[in-house]
Amino acid sequence: MTLHIDSLFIGGEWIPPTSSHRINVISASTEEHIGSVPEAREADVDAAVAAARGAFDDPSGWSQWSAGQRADALDSLADQLEARAEEMARRVSAQNGMPIAIARQLEAGFPVAVIRYYAGVVRTASFEESHPHLLGGTTTVRREPLGVVAAIAPWNFPQTLASFKYAPALAAGCTVVLKPSPETVLDAALFAEAVAASSVPAGVINIVPGGREVGAYLIAHPHIDKVAFTGSTAAGRQIAETCGRLLRPVTLELGGKSAAIVLDDAELDLATIGEKLFGATLLNNGQTCFLGTRILAPRSRYHEVVGVFEALASSLTVGDALDEATQIGPMASERQRERVEGYIAKGLGDGARLVTGGHRPAALDTGWFVEPTVFADVDNSHAIAQEEIFGPVLSVIPYTDVDDAIAIANATDYGLGGTVWTADHDRGMDVARRVRTGTIGINTYLPDPSSPFGGVKDSGIGRELGPDALTNFQAVKSIYA
Ligand code: NAD
Repeated sequence: MTLHIDSLFIGGEWIPPTSSHRINVISASTEEHIGSVPEAREADVDAAVAAARGAFDDPSGWSQWSAGQRADALDSLADQLEARAEEMARRVSAQNGMPIAIARQLEAGFPVAVIRYYAGVVRTASFEESHPHLLGGTTTVRREPLGVVAAIAPWNFPQTLASFKYAPALAAGCTVVLKPSPETVLDAALFAEAVAASSVPAGVINIVPGGREVGAYLIAHPHIDKVAFTGSTAAGRQIAETCGRLLRPVTLELGGKSAAIVLDDAELDLATIGEKLFGATLLNNGQTCFLGTRILAPRSRYHEVVGVFEALASSLTVGDALDEATQIGPMASERQRERVEGYIAKGLGDGARLVTGGHRPAALDTGWFVEPTVFADVDNSHAIAQEEIFGPVLSVIPYTDVDDAIAIANATDYGLGGTVWTADHDRGMDVARRVRTGTIGINTYLPDPSSPFGGVKDSGIGRELGPDALTNFQAVKSIYA
């Protein structure tokens, strides 16, 4: 079925676009044309920002609603998304190649949890507190909504990563212009339908599908008060430069090259840990920012660890993302597959040993598939150990002792995720404390909507999720009396 959408969701209505340019969507699994939407141009972005501005500035509008009213509206949006969960999962999966079972759990399920979480947070949050002025009198501290938010999402988890932005922004009383990635615009249209059917008022969420030019125009727009971005480190740097020049608050969730540190006492039976290991190293076809794609293995169990990852990678079912049995789907785009194959060639060129994979699956000649791939004998200085591949390619790196493992884990420009695999929780905690990263798991990895998520170093600035993310969208005002 092909889905053609003719209008843009701006100001609570479906309005005709100002140009005839369209974004065509190709299925990652079948390479078939599965739909198109209008591409937003500058005039459409102007209209979207004006709608968000109007909704924000309205004296009886969203920013002035009580926190309880906003929480109710957020819950109604969650209800509307839940009612569309299966269709949402299928649209994401068809577009970017995410296996359907994962899309159901993460793209349909996770945003609902995030929205309901922030509805709960604002129901009990305090937005105004008074205390004695240190030098006499009283000071009242108010947490006011920051204004109009430009939210920019990537294609790998388009719904989830958008919700990390709009849910706390709306909860705080901000209004939003969301720019989805051109690879994933059909799910954004379904999201717009959910917004329209919810009690979130007109103009509070507006959507401008487009590429990086549209994104660059949006973040620099004079009526934007805050930028929330997830994407590559390269784009993040450009956005940071713009926001620096404009003195515009920005949060950046960028790339990663995390370590999965296998300690010498780790349980390595795939029947026991296989599912968790998969989630932490290969989730979403390797197209996940937090994955531990550098596997650090103790020399004492090196061959065993290589064998475990060889067995894991070669056991996975590769196929059409919409097939229920699929564990590894295609890369999201042809360009992305070329990039992954380029890194596989670099790994071979640098002398790493290919243990399994490395090719296109013989049985799949349509779709942008790459076999789950494991390299052993990788040096941490190799390009495949230092650069974000964003595909199902793992590098096993030997280490001598725990200090050596931590030194290797930290010898990267990134610091987003990571895991420690051990039978001893306290040992795992010790290692987790010493890794320079924003998040890390022990024998598991799954972001928690109620706790901060984000990176250090080149992985970004600021944190999303958790109660503190509300402050990303608030201006704090002190009133002395
Ligand atoms: P990308 O940076 O190319 O694009 C991300 C989004 O930003 C897209 O919507 C794109 O159109 C837009 N964009 C690009 N350049 C822009 C600019 N100069 N100004 C404004 N908007 C711009 O990234 P991608 O290829 O879509 O996504 C993959 C990247 O995202 C990976 O590097 C991955 O690690 C990262 N990522 C990070 C996280 C995280 O939470 N840290 C999560 C998921 C993905």
